[in-house]
Amino acid sequence: MKLTTAILFTGAFRAVVLAKQNGSINFEGFKVYRIDTSDVADLKSTYDNLSIIELNHNRNHQHGSSDTIDIAVPPEHVAVFDTLDFNTTILSRNLGADIATEGSLGSYPELDDDGVPGLSWFDSYHAYEDHVRYWADLQASFVNNSELIQVGSSFEGRPIQGIHLWGSSGKNSKPAVFFNGNVHAREWITSIVVEYLLYQIVTGYKNDTAVQAALDNYDFYVLPVVNPDGFVYSQTTNRLWRKNRQTRDNTTAVGTDINRNWSVGFGGDGSSSNPSSETFSGYQAGDAPETAALMEFAQTLATNKGIKLYIDWHSYAQVILLSYGYICDSFPKNIDRQISLAGETASRIAQPYNTTFDYGPGCLVLYQSSGNGRDYMTDAAGAEFGWGIELRSTSYGFVLPANQIIPSSVEIWEGMKYLWANM
Ligand SMILES: [Zn+2]
Repeated sequence: MKLTTAILFTGAFRAVVLAKQNGSINFEGFKVYRIDTSDVADLKSTYDNLSIIELNHNRNHQHGSSDTIDIAVPPEHVAVFDTLDFNTTILSRNLGADIATEGSLGSYPELDDDGVPGLSWFDSYHAYEDHVRYWADLQASFVNNSELIQVGSSFEGRPIQGIHLWGSSGKNSKPAVFFNGNVHAREWITSIVVEYLLYQIVTGYKNDTAVQAALDNYDFYVLPVVNPDGFVYSQTTNRLWRKNRQTRDNTTAVGTDINRNWSVGFGGDGSSSNPSSETFSGYQAGDAPETAALMEFAQTLATNKGIKLYIDWHSYAQVILLSYGYICDSFPKNIDRQISLAGETASRIAQPYNTTFDYGPGCLVLYQSSGNGRDYMTDAAGAEFGWGIELRSTSYGFVLPANQIIPSSVEIWEGMKYLWANM
């Protein structure tokens, strides 16, 4: 059966037509390259001519500050691309095979005697509805110290939800630790790593003194999937979808980059006013319903007990991003303290498996990005530490094999235990 439907994939600079099979885009034969962009003036025309999909930008300080971009090239254009004179390394010879290796969505685990879903949850990625069920089960097993929360609704009407957890002083009595996962739809590792942190808190509070101290000192507000529409779309239709699924008048392009739609630095460099762009900011700050809900919730936390730590979870640059992203020559007042905490957090993350995380102000250590969440938390919600963390892996990209969920979680847990005890 031939099922070739032309659909629009919003690439970085233009819409690209890809073949759809069985309702979802088939990435069989796509080759993934890392291009050294140090002395490349203009990639745009190449992207346009070869229907290239842009993945991540990277900046590698440990190896001479070279800037690179990772891209996926469709099979019909690989031969032509290989004749071009770029300085590249091959990250993957077949993205379709990587997606197969990533593994299919797993089944729901049995609950243990305390009603907690078993650790086999972390052996695979999961469908969105199962994540919703997971949060409910985890909360129900920890009923005296937690509640389910909903901060708003997505463009397609899904609840933006998660768990609020507290310690011995009771609900709403301590400064907030506020986590957002899966703002970018294709970054699947982020929601499940955040769930591992939740699992460790819920199961550790009984007898782990480090967990007790953290939860007794802070109210945790954890939203593992703040872009549910995009996340579902990345599972049903396009594994590499990034933005939300918001439609706009007068364009067929779909999706706003929620992490360019916040009010601080809105519309500046490192965001785009073009609805087809992967970094489309929207037309006004907060005109994506997901961002509006998160900004409002942040203000509630700010006026309550304040925000101690915000982390927006991303993949895959392996970096701890501090404010600012929207400006490059100005820094938060406590930047020295932030850098020292981030450096030690990175060294704790490295302990289990030697995974290297860079750290520093976003604009310097990765790239300029305006209208992002961490800058909003720093400048508009009074967060002491407004951070983003890009999880592993710089070699696998967004399509991280499921057998790396546990290692990625374990190393981040080590970093978080240090950070919560020392911030
Ligand atoms: Zn991201």
